Amino acid sequence: MTKTSLEFLLEVGFIIHEEIGYQRVFDFEFSHLTLGEDFLLESVSGAIAITRTGEGLLAQGVFTASVQATCARCLDGFTQPLQSEFSELFTFPSHADAATELLVPANGKIDFAPLVREYLLLEVPISPICRPDCKGLCPQCGVNHNHEQCDCVTEVIDPRMEKLKALLDSSNNAEA
Ligand SMILES: [Zn+2]
Ligand SMILES: [Zn+2]
Repeated sequence: MTKTSLEFLLEVGFIIHEEIGYQRVFDFEFSHLTLGEDFLLESVSGAIAITRTGEGLLAQGVFTASVQATCARCLDGFTQPLQSEFSELFTFPSHADAATELLVPANGKIDFAPLVREYLLLEVPISPICRPDCKGLCPQCGVNHNHEQCDCVTEVIDPRMEKLKALLDSSNNAEA
């Protein structure tokens, strides 16, 4: 298993002494990565650009990765691609006020792992779908319609739904 504690720890102290506008880009590439306790990622690729501003260090990240997911429609496992971007200002302690959330640490080292994790997690769909045209499971026999067909009669029309449909149709006509 890959240890993650130091992979995103960047030494940015030297940038503090550069001119305003100075930028340094850090690249990242991991075939497998665990962020935090249980966020397992594959094919992680990205970059963080650190720019010296008047107030602090602006960190702009772009990351792509993939995560193993289970399709909410057919229950098959599949690889879900993720893409995220972030832009966060780490303020110099001398410029900080009560509203400041992120500060440039005194030791000049910033661990970006929590940020990268947070932003990639936001991209994980609540109900992942393996592909846009996933046919899902047969509601009657449960076979995966992406892989096989069944003989179930799928067009079971509930008589109550028919009534409702008729009602809706007539009210639509009334509006027109
Ligand atoms: Zn599916
Ligand atoms: Zn069936």
